[in-house]
Amino acid sequence: MKITCDFCKTEYNVNARPGASVRCAICGNTWTVAAPTRRNTFLMFFASLCALLSAIVFVVAVVVTYRPSKQDKEPLAAILTGHQVVTNDAGVKQLVVSGKITNQTMDIYGVPDLVIYLRDADGRIIATQKFMPSATLIDAGGVSEFKHVLSAPVTSNIKSIDVKLLTEASEKK
Ligand SMILES: [Zn+2]
Repeated sequence: MKITCDFCKTEYNVNARPGASVRCAICGNTWTVAAPTRRNTFLMFFASLCALLSAIVFVVAVVVTYRPSKQDKEPLAAILTGHQVVTNDAGVKQLVVSGKITNQTMDIYGVPDLVIYLRDADGRIIATQKFMPSATLIDAGGVSEFKHVLSAPVTSNIKSIDVKLLTEASEKK
């Protein structure tokens, strides 16, 4: 095996067992031959530590990369919370709908236009009406309530009312 004097750096090719005391023929320095297994253990430990660290870095990078796409679904959700029929000054019955828009993200969002669908008993659309809510922005995780008077005539065959965000509605045509 190859051993090196740790004082003068002279190299010797001798058969010395680890832990043996050797003396340099050049400078007279005496030292103990290091156990090669211990060094290998250290290298193995160091290598696995590096592997572990790079694995952690890889996992963190993957998680960070994939986090935005998880929020890709629907940032905003709109629901109706109620409706009532009112009679205006001209004696015309009008439908008033109220509801709320929830921001499901950690970002501020602009409020899109909403579309109200009036449907009959078979789910067929009788009338649709687009309107712009009074609020223009919703804070992260915030809720914005809306109330709207529909101009579509109130008819007896209206059996259900639902609301969609215009972006969502236009995707589904
Ligand atoms: Zn020496």
